[in-house]
Amino acid sequence: MNSQQVFTDVACTLCGCVCDDLSLTVVNNRVESTKHACDKASTWFQKFESILNRDRQSKDFCTVRGEASSLETALKLGRTLLSDACHPLVYGLSSSSTKGQGLAIQLADRLGGVIDSSASTGHAPSVLAFQRVGESTSSLGEVKSRADVVVYWGSNPVESHPRHLDRYTRCGTDTPNRTDGTKAFLIVVDVVETETARQADLFVKIDPGSDFEVLWALRGLVQGLTLSDENYGGVRREELVSLAEKMASCHYGALFFGQGLSQGSLAHLNVEAVLQLATDLHRHTRWVVRRMRRFGDVAGADNVLCWQTGYPFSVSLSRGFPRYQPGEFSACDVLENREVDLCLMVGAEGVQQLTQEAVETLSEIPTIVLTHQSTELPFTPTIEIAVQMYGVHSPGTAYRMDDTPIPLRSFFESDLPTDVEILNELLTGLTRE
Ligand code: SF4
Repeated sequence: MNSQQVFTDVACTLCGCVCDDLSLTVVNNRVESTKHACDKASTWFQKFESILNRDRQSKDFCTVRGEASSLETALKLGRTLLSDACHPLVYGLSSSSTKGQGLAIQLADRLGGVIDSSASTGHAPSVLAFQRVGESTSSLGEVKSRADVVVYWGSNPVESHPRHLDRYTRCGTDTPNRTDGTKAFLIVVDVVETETARQADLFVKIDPGSDFEVLWALRGLVQGLTLSDENYGGVRREELVSLAEKMASCHYGALFFGQGLSQGSLAHLNVEAVLQLATDLHRHTRWVVRRMRRFGDVAGADNVLCWQTGYPFSVSLSRGFPRYQPGEFSACDVLENREVDLCLMVGAEGVQQLTQEAVETLSEIPTIVLTHQSTELPFTPTIEIAVQMYGVHSPGTAYRMDDTPIPLRSFFESDLPTDVEILNELLTGLTRE
């Protein structure tokens, strides 16, 4: 491609915002400039190029035990390894697309294995909390149109989701809910003063590990109780009283929480407390609570897994029907406990979140890794196959952090296979039923 081309309405899958209003100018097979992309996305898009007429025997395409291989050889070995595996793990899925995620589940089902997405190392405690106490949700569009108070709790979107504020919470859309007619009142609750905290109208600094205590105190205040102590989790009582009043007196509030709240021991109780705070606030006004998702299509993996197995992650299909058990069937657990004898990774973005023990197992068992771009892996896979990136080389669908499906368009051509093609090849060639 030598001429200049401009692609509009491109969606970015680098983070859970899945911004779909980007314009990319492509010159000489490279993204030369971007419009509406954040700095992270700009740098990311500039890594890609058309992949045409390359040497298919090069290491860029396919390797077997670190050596360049033909795709046919790799697939043949892959089918043999999968057919011989007694209890395989299928892991990843967050950079795939709906069809690839569906096929990965089909393969795990056929093999009687375990399937898990990178959600199990991210917002898994949040899902457990939703299942216990329910959740009050909305689309990001509704937040943009209606919220007059926004809280980020344990989240620093200026760095992790750079356009979240501009697109959804601080965009200055004129709505009847906002008394100043411009922007929602921004509150940040965190253990350190982050860049987002510096931009906030109100920053509430809490002691590390005290989220539950602060949330419980807030719940009491919203319910009309009086607090007896002077200080809760590093926050003065008067500060909590004014925060509770601010939250209870708005027209529409939206609370976004990140891994600062949902990670660590008993994190599901923190998330339960946030969800119950929203329920308490409903006596006064409308509040919604949403997660800040990390990867572009991790929400899609949840949705497709729920649709096909009834559960969002950590699902075992070894008995011929789905069983859900986070802490037992999550990727880290089955790898650490050496309960699986093969791992098929559909996308390698989740590997950095695995524990050292889990990675050690990956270096000892056969591994088949489908990578969407050259990713540094902490082990040498038995088979590594480069596949097209959805939203760059091939169209697809990704689910935004609010579970809204976003169509992905492609702007580069590629000779690489898609993960759908590879999974289909593996599935149809299996020698066991
Ligand atoms: S905020 Fe996230 S989805 Fe939006 S352009 Fe930046 S990296 Fe991409």
